[in-house]
Amino acid sequence: MILLANSEAWPGFDQTVELLKNNAYGVDAMVAGISAVERNVKVRSVGYGGWPNMLGKMECDAGVMDGTTREVGSVGAVPDTLPVAALAHEVMKRLPHVMLTGEGARRFATEIGFPVDDVLYEDSKRVWWDRLQKELLPDELKAFPDIPLAPLSRTITDPERVRDTTVFLAQDSAMGIHAVTSTSGWAWKYPGRVGDSPIAGAGFYADSRYGAAACTHTGEMTMRCGTARSIVLALRFGHSLRAAVDMAMEDLGQLKTGFLAGVVIHAIDAAGNHEVASFQCPGEIKYWFWEPTMSKPELRIARQYDPQRATQRGS
Ligand code: ASP
Repeated sequence: MILLANSEAWPGFDQTVELLKNNAYGVDAMVAGISAVERNVKVRSVGYGGWPNMLGKMECDAGVMDGTTREVGSVGAVPDTLPVAALAHEVMKRLPHVMLTGEGARRFATEIGFPVDDVLYEDSKRVWWDRLQKELLPDELKAFPDIPLAPLSRTITDPERVRDTTVFLAQDSAMGIHAVTSTSGWAWKYPGRVGDSPIAGAGFYADSRYGAAACTHTGEMTMRCGTARSIVLALRFGHSLRAAVDMAMEDLGQLKTGFLAGVVIHAIDAAGNHEVASFQCPGEIKYWFWEPTMSKPELRIARQYDPQRATQRGS
């Protein structure tokens, strides 16, 4: 057994550990833990504590992947709903589809009994409005929201305010390897923007035979590189976990145009190894780790990817 999650996971990590110890299915254990993260306003990037889009509306993303069946459920830009990882799980269980977005996702939530909740924390609303007042001219403020938003997206969208998503990866007592993610996405994003967290293959991927990976930070890069899937595929082709992660980092480093910033990769393999590495993220990145030999979960420091010292293919 193993549980790996990013630093935002603290409100739900212990709960997931306890469930795993009691032989819970990994997906169920992680959805329960992430629901606790989503409900905690102190986590300023996920659920209640997250940040709204340019219009001051919360639109959350989440994804679930069962690495044994390789079934996926996800929701993108879903308004008025919490917990969204649990909603993504229901998409997986109840529908012939993999992903629902926007109003369709909300409709489904209503059909299965999720309450309508604007998920907008008072402090997030205040900070969002302060920012608009600084960025918009008086005429634009008066006409808001009936103004073109696209010209604002370069100046007002704020990926750095979003320090993270929450991502959980586990190998459960049945040796199943699974992944779950949840985020409010970039602060002040363009309405309808969907990040990598609900995109299987980009923000998360799991295959019980080989391993799992999940990304945080700049989804606009991991979606272009298919980062999470590329790591699991490299494991399938026999590369070590470190080499698989370094190859994905090297690929991100090849992007020279478009929006470029930091990415953090979290990954585990079927042999019980784990890797957390930061690609050009400022500051120290931390993550939570637990395996049964440990008396309690530990907050550890991620490796900084260094292209000069990257693990070579095949090693
Ligand atoms: N990866 C997320 C997104 O692009 C945001 C983050 O993790 O900071 O929506």
